Amino acid sequence: MKNIAIYPGTFDPFTNGHLDIVMRARLLFPSVIVAVTDNPHKKGDFSLADRIAMVKEAVRNIDNVSVDSFKELLVNYTNKKKARIIIRGLRAVSDFEYEFQMALMNRNLSANIETVFLMPDEKYTYLSSSLVKEIARLGGNIEEFVSEHVRSVIFKHFKL
Ligand code: ADP
Repeated sequence: MKNIAIYPGTFDPFTNGHLDIVMRARLLFPSVIVAVTDNPHKKGDFSLADRIAMVKEAVRNIDNVSVDSFKELLVNYTNKKKARIIIRGLRAVSDFEYEFQMALMNRNLSANIETVFLMPDEKYTYLSSSLVKEIARLGGNIEEFVSEHVRSVIFKHFKL
C-alpha cells in the first residue's frame, strides 16, 4: 500500500492555515487527498461545491495533491482510497483534546490507519475558519488569512 494521506476537514472556508498543512503533508507523502466533509448535520456557511472549489483553486498547481469529498465514516473512506494516513493540523493545546479523542476513536474503528499531526507556521496558530468569517463580516482585513479567491467567495456569500 502506498502512503497515501487523507487530509479531511470542513474547510468552511479553506484558509492559509489549512494550506500550510497541505504543503507540509505533500513533502512527507507521495500523494495527499484533501477530503472535504459532506456532512448535512454540520451546519456551515458555505456549500459543499463552494468549499471544494476553494480547495481546488488553492492546490491547482500542486502535482501530488488532489481534492475530493466524502460522506461516510472517515476511516471507511480512508480504507476505500487505500490510504492509511490521516493528516490533522494542531494549532494549540486547545485542539489537542478533541483531536486526541478522534485519533484514538479512528484507531479503534480501523487499527491499520495512523493519524499524523502537523503544526502550521506560528503565524497561523491563531487562525480559524470561524474567526476569518467573523472578521470579514465585521469589515476587517482578511488578506493575510485566505487567498484572493476565498476572499471573493466570502464577500459574495456575505454580500460584503
Ligand atoms: P473539522 O471540522 O474537520 O475540524 P476544519 O476545517 O475546522 O475541519 O479543520 C480541518 C483540520 O485543519 C483540523 O485538523 C484543524 O485542526 C486544522 N486546522 C484548522 N485551522 C488550522 C490552522 N490555522 N493551522 C493549522 N491547522 C488548522
